[in-house]
Amino acid sequence: MSKLQIHQFEALSDNYGYLVHDPESGSTAAIDTPEVSAIEAALAEKGWTLTHIFNTHHHADHAGGNLALKEKYGCIIVGPKGEEKLIPGIDRAVGQDDIVELGFAKARVIDVPGHTRGHIAYYFGDDDVVFVGDTLFALGCGRLFEGTPQQMWTSLSKLMALPDDTTVYCAHEYTQSNARFALSVEPHNAALIARSKDIDEKRARGAWTVPTSIGLEKATNPFLRAASNDLRATIGLVGAADVDVFAETRARKDKF
Ligand code: ZN
Ligand code: FE
Repeated sequence: MSKLQIHQFEALSDNYGYLVHDPESGSTAAIDTPEVSAIEAALAEKGWTLTHIFNTHHHADHAGGNLALKEKYGCIIVGPKGEEKLIPGIDRAVGQDDIVELGFAKARVIDVPGHTRGHIAYYFGDDDVVFVGDTLFALGCGRLFEGTPQQMWTSLSKLMALPDDTTVYCAHEYTQSNARFALSVEPHNAALIARSKDIDEKRARGAWTVPTSIGLEKATNPFLRAASNDLRATIGLVGAADVDVFAETRARKDKF
């Protein structure tokens, strides 16, 4: 039913900021607060007034602008239950399957720990969009700062279970370097080879590679491809459990 309007913009050196607007009610949420000036410029450009902040996790490039924006707009701040004490100005802490309302639009919260202990994603099912913060990137996934490979694999598996045509809004433009790693561990994946060329072409003219989709990530993102024989053969884990293939892939990326 809902017809959300989503405005994407660059923030800091490689973050993306997002404003989500429900035209029926006039409500507008910032997904994370990477940079106050960039968010204010985006609000001015669209002519929207900030009513909510939806935080995915506590890192400074995601919640660092909370207090300044709350002071100016009096907006309501929603954030992860597992990081309640670390989210500046939080009004409501949410976790798995909680419903977050933005006017007439509704997001279901998905717990996706791994990058941080309490990381959450916001899934607007009526609009087929998910905001994943630093959990899933185009051809990548977040570093495991506070969680285990098993936690992250479980989190990514939840995102993989969303419909393939779900649009995925992640928080950073890391795609081109992610593609180099992806090709190193799955060199014979034709879809990945084609996508990598497309990414190089896009970046050469300064275009964004985000958003992506669940279907495209399942076909090309090595962190979602633990079942791939090409990946398994390359990293020497042909008969291993999916979680161990994921863990080894993540460990290799950390050293790449
Ligand atoms: Zn982060
Ligand atoms: Fe980040």
